[in-house]
Amino acid sequence: MALIDITAVDRTVYNGRIRDFIPDSLIDVHTHVFPEAPPISGQVRTVTWPSRVASCNPIEDLDETARLLFPGKTYTPVIFGFPSDDLDLAAANRYVATAARQRKYPALMLAHPDMTAQGLEQQLKQNGFLGIKVYLTFAPRYIPAPEIRIFDFLTHEHLEVCDRLGLMVMLHIPRSKRIKDPVNLAQLLEIEKRYRNLQLVVAHVGRAYVNDDIGDALSILGKTKRMLFDISANTNDWVFEQLIRSVGSSRILYGSDLPIVRRTMPGRAGISDGGSMVLTRCISCSTRRLISSTFGCVMVILPWEW
Ligand SMILES: [Zn+2]
Repeated sequence: MALIDITAVDRTVYNGRIRDFIPDSLIDVHTHVFPEAPPISGQVRTVTWPSRVASCNPIEDLDETARLLFPGKTYTPVIFGFPSDDLDLAAANRYVATAARQRKYPALMLAHPDMTAQGLEQQLKQNGFLGIKVYLTFAPRYIPAPEIRIFDFLTHEHLEVCDRLGLMVMLHIPRSKRIKDPVNLAQLLEIEKRYRNLQLVVAHVGRAYVNDDIGDALSILGKTKRMLFDISANTNDWVFEQLIRSVGSSRILYGSDLPIVRRTMPGRAGISDGGSMVLTRCISCSTRRLISSTFGCVMVILPWEW
């Protein structure tokens, strides 16, 4: 069975509106690769539906998905593991490092807050990772999910290493109020102010998937100068419009969150007949593109008419 069902509607839209609009070469800044299903732990502090989309996503499957989604394009993913409780982090990072080396893909290392700064630096250098991907599930287990703060799983020691080496930090923010949460906002601003040499990427536009998630977050973050946002797994055109108005198009990165977006999900920005979520996301991307010097990434930004 194909990894994604590409329908006649998808083909028509891709050929008519997307293919010639997006660059011949594009970078997807947010993809997960994992050769087998991550272990399921007794303690669940995050949503569990993503694991039902794909029990695994070996690098071969990611390549195949890209071939199906972007025929005729050169696709370069930034790859990292799939963070989950009880994951064998060393094995997950080893798999990603090997796949990245073989295919010359950029890669991030899953970083656990318990890693020493020295150990982190050594592994980053040894494997040629471009930076770290951190996740709230790695926060100490005594902290209830609603109370987890960014610095509970992204430590200052790790931030200092990334800052000194000029690396990327990919951050999935915690807390139920998401990007508008005052604690999140305070800590995002602290990272922006204290660590001026690392590159922070706030994943999924700070998990602002619906309009109410924004609050006054973007008017506050609009005053920052450095932090970037990836649009992975987010289909909210209104959120994208606010983001573009606040931080400008040059700080927005294209990301898919594969394999999670293999899930068919008609989105606000999507077409209702036959289009998978992934392709509706591409359609949303189809009216403009920008090329960024940051990481040499190709960025696709979403128009507000969708
Ligand atoms: Zn992700």
